[in-house]
Amino acid sequence: MSVGTATIAGQTRRPGRRQTCYFCKSKITRIDYKDTETLRKFLTEYGRITPRYANGNCAKCQRALARAVKLARFMALLPYVGAVNVED
Ligand SMILES: [Zn+2]
Repeated sequence: MSVGTATIAGQTRRPGRRQTCYFCKSKITRIDYKDTETLRKFLTEYGRITPRYANGNCAKCQRALARAVKLARFMALLPYVGAVNVED
């Protein structure tokens, strides 16, 4: 066994791992629902919010992001669903 706590798939998480949360890293304290350019970074081409294991966000920011995206959708700034191939 190596240093750190064991996680799924035999990977280990070391204590001094670099921060990967986009919002914490760039010191964004409030996630703005009007900032669709930033929010779009965390959406798939189908308009889904990427999961935490894919985007590396911390739990706190991921919750704030989800709220911001949902509000932005309601305000029609972001799509509920996008890039659907109708031809198939
Ligand atoms: Zn964060």
